[in-house]
Amino acid sequence: MRDEIKKIRDLLDTVEESLAIKDEESVRETFDIFELPQIIKDIVDFLQPVISPYEMDIYWFIFRHSVLETGDVFLRVSNGRLAKGIGTKFKTFDKQNSRFGEKTVAENLRSLEVLGVIMKFGDTTREGTLYKIFLPEQIQVCKERMKIHQLDSLPSVDPRKEQDYYNIKENRLRIFERDEYLCYKCNKQLTRFNATLDHIQPVSEGGDNSYDNLATSCFHCNSSRRSTPISDFIAS
Ligand SMILES: [Zn+2]
Repeated sequence: MRDEIKKIRDLLDTVEESLAIKDEESVRETFDIFELPQIIKDIVDFLQPVISPYEMDIYWFIFRHSVLETGDVFLRVSNGRLAKGIGTKFKTFDKQNSRFGEKTVAENLRSLEVLGVIMKFGDTTREGTLYKIFLPEQIQVCKERMKIHQLDSLPSVDPRKEQDYYNIKENRLRIFERDEYLCYKCNKQLTRFNATLDHIQPVSEGGDNSYDNLATSCFHCNSSRRSTPISDFIAS
């Protein structure tokens, strides 16, 4: 008897566990209201530029009735309801043919499916077809654009600063190491504590802070001691 009760308990545990997993999966398909501004920004920035205006109309309609309305990513909708919801512009091409709007909707739904923006789920019923809508972060073409955008928005390195071997500490050390800490004038052995950098072509004559215009120098040989008043030299 006790064994049987234990078996039932184990079974119940297993059922509970599988239900918990299912819950977790459904949670992942719903959205927090605070995520919406970012989702909408991503749609405008990364989806809108890669699909046609008609496709965009359909996407917004499905988005409005799924993500915005119910908080999940599924919507059962007929081509007729879509054509009506999107407006009269589909019909203006051919007022004689009332099916034209629906035909255009069907064509655009197909191209959205090919692009991986929406996905058909199961059979079509009288209420229409069940679609799953994807968000930009799940759509391949959008993901590619997002990646490029992220690369572009990286802080760019100022090439002048990058080539500044005078003011950037790591770059100064590279000059000292290149020169093996020897003064370029008197050949005195220096250390990183007493080595200075001298401009081969002085700044006053248009010399810059590039790798080739700098040399390791001892304090006494440094030409800036001669061209700059001593007080300025100490201050800098
Ligand atoms: Zn020297």
